[in-house]
Amino acid sequence: MRYISSITVDKLIIDYPDVLQSFALVFDIQEGWAELINDLCKSTQIYAKQENITSFTFTKFERKFGGLFVSHEEGDMLIGKIIRFSERISFNICEECGKRGYLHSSTGNEWGTTETLCSKHALRKLYKRVDAIGLIGKC
Ligand SMILES: [Zn+2]
Repeated sequence: MRYISSITVDKLIIDYPDVLQSFALVFDIQEGWAELINDLCKSTQIYAKQENITSFTFTKFERKFGGLFVSHEEGDMLIGKIIRFSERISFNICEECGKRGYLHSSTGNEWGTTETLCSKHALRKLYKRVDAIGLIGKC
C-alpha cells in the first residue's frame, strides 16, 4: 500500500508547527487526503492561535471504517467540531488520489476492508461501492 509521502508530511510539520507538535505524530493515511489534512491543520492552527490554546496537538491521522479518523490531545469544543467535519468530508475524497470518492468495500458489504476511493482506484482493487450511511453511524 502506498502511504502519504515524507515530503508532504515534512511540509505539513513546517507549515503547522503549533498543531503538529506531538513527538508521537502518526500519518497512517494515503496521499489523497493530504489537502484535507492541510486545511484541517490550517484552520485549527489559526483558531488555536486566536484563542491562545497552546496545548492542542494532533497525534494521529488514520483510516477507520473507510474514512479519516483523527486523534488529538487537548483542544476545545470548536476544534472537536472542525475535526468531526473533516472526518465526514473524507468520505467524499479518494484516499489515493484526492478526486471525488465514494465508500467502497473489498467484499461489497460492511464486513470487508472499506476505503473511500474514486471509481478508477476502486476498479483497480476490485472493490465495490457501498452505502456510507450505515458505516458512518458506527464511528
Ligand atoms: Zn482515486
